[in-house]
Amino acid sequence: MREKTNMATIGFIGLGNMGGPMAKNLAKAGHKLKVFDLSEKAVAALVEAGATKAAKAADVARDVEFVVTMLPAGEHVRSVYLGDNGLIAVANKGTLFIDSSTIDVPSARDVIAAAEKAGMAMIDAPVSGGVGGAEAGTLTFMVGGSDAAFAKAKPVLEQMGKNIFHAGGAGNGQVAKVCNNMILGISMIAVSEAFALGEKLGLDAQTLFDISSTASGQCWSMTSYCPVPGPVPTSPANRDYKPGFSAAMMLKDLRLAQDASKTAKAPTPLGAQAAQLYALMEASGHDGLDFSGIIKLIKGEI
Ligand code: NAD
Repeated sequence: MREKTNMATIGFIGLGNMGGPMAKNLAKAGHKLKVFDLSEKAVAALVEAGATKAAKAADVARDVEFVVTMLPAGEHVRSVYLGDNGLIAVANKGTLFIDSSTIDVPSARDVIAAAEKAGMAMIDAPVSGGVGGAEAGTLTFMVGGSDAAFAKAKPVLEQMGKNIFHAGGAGNGQVAKVCNNMILGISMIAVSEAFALGEKLGLDAQTLFDISSTASGQCWSMTSYCPVPGPVPTSPANRDYKPGFSAAMMLKDLRLAQDASKTAKAPTPLGAQAAQLYALMEASGHDGLDFSGIIKLIKGEI
């Protein structure tokens, strides 16, 4: 059950495909929002939803209780938070920062350490659930940070998501996210190879689905997101692989997993192969397709 939260003043930076609908859900819940994005259009959509526009990123952090950021990558998060004009330099002590971007683990840990050193609290809280989940307020949040920061952030996160997990200390939300998405990338390739092989050998896709989805080969990539049209009517395969979750986004996460695997000296041979296959989709200019479109690469269709 969602906990009740008092209405708060919240800063929000990064109003893109994910951040836009997440911020709208906070505005809808009655919070007072101060927003900033490099895109005027993205800001205008939030102002229409009742938010106040800040002139620059740092202004978002002045006199607010929470700041949420939803930015593309670690370099953007570092540049927004750190330095003389960063959020950490201008926020009141006690402000709680929530970074929901998917970024590299070292950046998440460095920025959280800097925030805590300056007397603020911070969590990394990457999400899964995509744009649909952001719009519906049903995202899954994977949170890294202190118990106190998690407890304080939870009621705010619950207004943007359904499942809120505390994964451990700083950066552990990002660790959970890259591990989960590495499973997803690899399993989608496995399912795609199996359906491509079955087809060549004369096995009907629906028949393979009926058998494998109730046998030991079953996994989310098959049962919820099947890469061939038919068995799962809601999967992107039924709409020419329109995302969904793009192959470019999957490649980003698989590369983050590879960076983490190198740093941790943890071998991830199939994760490395998966990253290389998605890099081929990028090189062929098809990374705008949903990530389940990897089956087209495997079948030699792209
Ligand atoms: P997006 O590109 O649509 O949005 C990013 C926004 O950040 C843009 O509006 C951009 O103008 C803004 N921005 C960039 N640098 C900025 C700066 N310095 N100051 C202010 N604004 C700045 O990306 P998205 O799809 O919303 O993804 C955001 C994050 O969420 C990424 O880390 C992504 O990996 C992650 N994510 C995305 C999805 C998805 O399905 N799209 C799912 C899960 C997680």
